[in-house]
Amino acid sequence: MPTLCKYEECTGCQACIQACKHQALRPIQNQHGFIHPYVDEKACIECGLCEIICPILNSVWVKNKLEPRTLAAWHKDMEVRWKSSSGGAFSALADYVLEQRGVVFGAAVTTKCKIKHIGITQRMELDALRRSKYVQSDIGKSYIEAKKFLQDGRLVLFSGTPCQIAGLYAFLRNHQYDNLYTVDFICHGVPSPFVFEEYIKRMETKYGSDIVNINFRDKRNGVEANLLIVFNTLKSGVRIERFKDNSFYHGFISSVFLRDSCYKCQYATMPRYADITLADYRNIGNKKKFEHEKERPLGFTGVMVNNEHGEVLIQNSEIQYEERYFAELASSQPHLKVPISKPSCSDDFFECLKNEGYDKAAKRFLPMSIKKRIEIGARMLLGVKFFYALGKLVRILTGKRSLFIE
Ligand SMILES: Cc1cc2nc3c(=O)[nH]c(=O)nc-3n(C[C@H](O)[C@H](O)[C@H](O)COP(=O)(O)OP(=O)(O)OC[C@H]3O[C@@H](n4cnc5c(N)ncnc54)[C@H](O)[C@@H]3O)c2cc1C
Repeated sequence: MPTLCKYEECTGCQACIQACKHQALRPIQNQHGFIHPYVDEKACIECGLCEIICPILNSVWVKNKLEPRTLAAWHKDMEVRWKSSSGGAFSALADYVLEQRGVVFGAAVTTKCKIKHIGITQRMELDALRRSKYVQSDIGKSYIEAKKFLQDGRLVLFSGTPCQIAGLYAFLRNHQYDNLYTVDFICHGVPSPFVFEEYIKRMETKYGSDIVNINFRDKRNGVEANLLIVFNTLKSGVRIERFKDNSFYHGFISSVFLRDSCYKCQYATMPRYADITLADYRNIGNKKKFEHEKERPLGFTGVMVNNEHGEVLIQNSEIQYEERYFAELASSQPHLKVPISKPSCSDDFFECLKNEGYDKAAKRFLPMSIKKRIEIGARMLLGVKFFYALGKLVRILTGKRSLFIE
């Protein structure tokens, strides 16, 4: 029997499952809905490939830059920025690859609100990949599909969490394909698909209708604290929830129901595996003013160009940007250095969810703190600019690095 990585360290990248030529490994969901490999002893011939492939068992030395060139970036088309989580940099990079008849892989909301990785070849399909989905996406067979496209000489842009990108390189046995570009993002951690499923059921009961799509980051009321979660329902039209009232989002930012491996993430560090790393460029710009301040209200994507290959993609695409500096982005991004900590209530939350259902568990473990409510209220009342000016003043007066949590 193969010795796979420790259960709590497995990221669910499924590189081992996709690499197995004997279908001896299958994806199974644990009680929190996270996928783990299951070994079918009868089918396994003990070739050991899964052990060689696993990116956790075989960490690779990454040559990428420790302090990469850093940009505040945005898409030239305002419509696309409205539809993106941050500045739409991902779409600008994807546009180029699709124009070259390439293939773009990323996470999409599929039937029954399942989050899965898919590959697209047409620009009209790109909207499905846009925006953050705050649930672990099922990578399925996308490494196998990406490899086929690469071997056929097609350009491939593969986007995903840092662990999914590490899984892809491991699956490709670290073979360097000139026609492969990879994009990850600075990652807070991935929430449980089971909790998400329970949350969706709760919202379906509330609206009296099936939910067919969800936008985790709708900007119609503005970015930051004013973000909305929007549901497309079958019978009850479009329904909107404010972030601040939303238990699932609150559970995500307070890290209550993330995958176990996220709390020990090996990839919350520099250098990165991907050619390009994306992030929210928020709460910064105090020391060096933005030349393109007028672009700020719709959001910037922070872009780290981790190697020369990533540089080529930036140069070829029509991404709009201004130069910033790595230390600035890093100052607001703890997960470039350390993984998120596991809250002490996490196990109790899952126990309560199992025994008493989503509503009770959410009420007991996911209420928003008074501090967070004050912060959100202040942002809405003062507007983003004044809010940061106030934050700066408080920092100067108190000597604290930051008054507010992110
Ligand atoms: C779970 C999660 C945690 C995040 N944590 C942070 C953080 O701590 N700090 C930070 O600065 N930014 C974080 N982000 C990233 C950020 O929200 C934006 O994705 C990033 O700024 C890019 O924005 P954009 O407008 O350029 O592109 P967008 O159009 O928003 O592009 C989204 C890209 O992310 C991919 N994606 C979306 N959801 C998932 C998913 N569940 N799994 C894998 N890939 C996915 C899509 O395939 C697409 O490539 C997180 C995103 C997710 C999904």
